[in-house]
Amino acid sequence: MNDQFIEGVSTGNTNVEGVEIHTGRRNISAFQFSDGNYYDEKGQSLAPAFQRILLKKNYRLSSRFNPKRKHPITGRVRPHNGADFATPVGTAVVAPGDGVVTLVANHAFAGKYVVIEHDNKVKTRYLHLSKFKVRKGQRVKRGQLIALSGNTGASTGPHLHYEFHVNGRPIDPMKANITEAKTLPKQKLSEFQSIVRSRKMMMELG
Ligand SMILES: [Zn+2]
Repeated sequence: MNDQFIEGVSTGNTNVEGVEIHTGRRNISAFQFSDGNYYDEKGQSLAPAFQRILLKKNYRLSSRFNPKRKHPITGRVRPHNGADFATPVGTAVVAPGDGVVTLVANHAFAGKYVVIEHDNKVKTRYLHLSKFKVRKGQRVKRGQLIALSGNTGASTGPHLHYEFHVNGRPIDPMKANITEAKTLPKQKLSEFQSIVRSRKMMMELG
């Protein structure tokens, strides 16, 4: 634990820097790295890489991912490559995972839309937005506000269209494997391992 003091007075801010739990069968450990996240001893993140829902509240799923859907305007069979949430115009949309904004654009069909590239060859897209809250090239953190939902482009009513692409192919965002945790890169691993060693020593002393 790390207690914050300012001029000898505790601020009440306490931070857990490392924890080890020994049960009969297995040992579980977590250590905080300089990025603020927790990792196991091997440097594998303990948080899933993505959150399932990119909205702060629950909204009805108005149209599911469906490769054989008939388009609601043209009537032709056009795959629905994402999931639609029935969000009123102006609903906050947050990044489901860390990444880089690679596109902020306006399109006749997609309306105002944003594309974010993440680790593990995942790309997410957000369509029919009303307002952008990020710029192209910007790094975003999981949970960060990226846009407000809307009804722009070829849209039959206010909603958020959300796509999840893996290796360039759209998959169902509601079924995507989002637990694939990220591992610390090699150049950071030795720094992390020395933190683990020193914290383990402190635990034994404590
Ligand atoms: Zn849609």
